[in-house]
Amino acid sequence: MDRGLPLTSLPGVGPARAQRLARLGIESIDGLLRLVPRGVEVWPAEAPIAAVLERGPKAGSARIRGTVGGRSFLHQGRRRSLLRVRVEDDSGRIQVLFFNQPWLRERFTKGEPIEVLGRPVEAQGTALVAERLASPERPLPAPGSVTPRYPTTEGISQEFLGALCREAARRHAAEVVEPLAPAALAELGVPPLDEALRALHEPADLDSFRRAARRVALEPVLRLQARLWRRRQQRCGGRALVVDLDRAEHERLVARLPFTPTAGQRTVIAELRGDLARPVAMRRLLQGDVGSGKTLVGLYGCLAVAGAGGQSAFMAPTELLAEQHFDGLARRLERAGLRGALLSGSVQGADRARVLRGLARGELDVVFGTHALFGADVHFRRLAFCVIDEQHRFGVAQRRRLLDKGADCHALLMTATPIPRTTALTIYGDLDLSILAEKPPGRGAVRTRWLRGPQRRRCLDFLEERLAAGERAFWVVPRIAEGASGAPGAEARFEKLGRRPLARFGIELVHGRQSAEERTRRLARFRDGEVRLLVATTVIEVGVDVPEATVMVIESAERLGLAQLHQLRGRIGRSPRPGWCFLMGAAVAAERFRLLERTADGFEIAEADLRQRGMGDLAGVRQAGDNAEGLGDGEGDLDLLLFARERVARDAALRAAYLDTPPAPAPAAAPESAS
Ligand code: ADP
Ligand code: MG
Repeated sequence: MDRGLPLTSLPGVGPARAQRLARLGIESIDGLLRLVPRGVEVWPAEAPIAAVLERGPKAGSARIRGTVGGRSFLHQGRRRSLLRVRVEDDSGRIQVLFFNQPWLRERFTKGEPIEVLGRPVEAQGTALVAERLASPERPLPAPGSVTPRYPTTEGISQEFLGALCREAARRHAAEVVEPLAPAALAELGVPPLDEALRALHEPADLDSFRRAARRVALEPVLRLQARLWRRRQQRCGGRALVVDLDRAEHERLVARLPFTPTAGQRTVIAELRGDLARPVAMRRLLQGDVGSGKTLVGLYGCLAVAGAGGQSAFMAPTELLAEQHFDGLARRLERAGLRGALLSGSVQGADRARVLRGLARGELDVVFGTHALFGADVHFRRLAFCVIDEQHRFGVAQRRRLLDKGADCHALLMTATPIPRTTALTIYGDLDLSILAEKPPGRGAVRTRWLRGPQRRRCLDFLEERLAAGERAFWVVPRIAEGASGAPGAEARFEKLGRRPLARFGIELVHGRQSAEERTRRLARFRDGEVRLLVATTVIEVGVDVPEATVMVIESAERLGLAQLHQLRGRIGRSPRPGWCFLMGAAVAAERFRLLERTADGFEIAEADLRQRGMGDLAGVRQAGDNAEGLGDGEGDLDLLLFARERVARDAALRAAYLDTPPAPAPAAAPESAS
């Protein structure tokens, strides 16, 4: 079909409504057809009034048919009105309540038939709040039939949108071509696309709706997989920046790094060097436990790429982390004669303009940043390398938005959360994997203890001792403000600790509601040792690197998952001194706490975590931002994804159908269809 056919060609849609629909992301008839309802409403069967009374207010919607049993009463308030009508059938009688529809009073005369659907409530016995009244023009839908429910916006009612979708499907669904072969459809148990689009908006029953929705949900998945396929082919085409370092140059770069790399870091750096030397864009996933020293590897890449005239982007999921990377690495870069800059949400105005200009002109070699790097106004002269730190915090679509700012950009994805290889292949196309197993030398062991009862008080004394010895500590509280359970929030904890003797060592508070600037300033006070105790929410979870910190207390720890607790714990034990992690939390999480007491092995913990959270998360399908790609979040996503990936790889015609062949421009004056 002509995908560009405007919405205004449908009855009832003028420019104003078209604009409102655009707010819902619907810009064409094709978009309307593919609008997947949020869910469906199943119309209940008729029930005798006695049964409705017996089931009482807790039961779901009820549908009754009877006669008007007497005079109706109208209570007219200033803003609201209530009309009470008695309805009777052979089994009994019930009050039916109509809110704010005073005009209905005329309709109800004694003995007249009435059919109504409503919600049972408690009002001096069970009454029925009318939700829909049947009329000859608008009878109630048949029992068991389903009505799709759509997202709505101001000026676009549920009813209107439903009718519009139905009309669009009746007129245009047949024009939609199904690119999948019948056998493929049979494999998934879904109808062909044209049929699916009709059943989606006008389903015969729940089952046909579900199957239709599944077929329609497959569309963006197929499109994404087709694009991934093309990307893989293009990568083989080889337009990536070639960074060919000989042994001496390589060693010179390594010598510029802030530390002598560990054997593990050396191995990964060698892998990186190999990747960069080829004209094929690198896609490497570096997995390494918290504190294993992944940053150093990223820095090597930036230095190498800059030497060959390319720019790098070092991407972090939080401002805190981006700033820390920038603060920690910018000086290194300078010493190497390179220029770095920071671009995060809080870099604004003239500063931001300067960074953007520097990137566009190629005057900046490395930019550290957050999601702000995705911005449409961020242009590079020659973006050749992206480091994506804590990559699981970004969606597939987000990562791509950054990579697309360069031609065949090399990418190093870093994560402390291992992903099974099969999953990595499915989600990212084809990734090479590197693993950083050992930790840098000179690390004290971190002991973890779950504290209960009086042990908690002793923990405070211990904490004070450590602070007195010049060490630093984190006190983590998951929430900012007090929770419903009465557990104190970070703010309250900060106040309380501030009244204790240990406050003489200085205490600071960081959380996500502070401005990024504020947070950075406070964190800097902690990093520089001006204050020794930092009360924080989980904003410090990723990356924060303060080697002098030796103690971490985590309060309400039952609110946090295994991987998150392990990440947090990774903030300590970054110096030769022994570290302590104290968990305070409810026994519901005892299993988690015991595992953390027993092991510090991030891979073991991640595995246990994945097992506990189940397959959905394991597949990574629910990563942030993926929904923008339409991966959805339903149960069957993984098998749709695997299906699409496999079909797209082996069927050229299918790929062609889903690769963005832009719609042919609409002729100035649409001619009558020839057929
Ligand atoms: P990750 O990002 O993998 O969690 P980082 O890159 O933040 O870990 O490194 C953790 C800590 O180890 C940092 O304090 C860093 O400065 C230090 N570090 C990294 N590599 C080395 C090394 N080769 N020798 C000594 N210390 C190192
Ligand atoms: Mg890190």
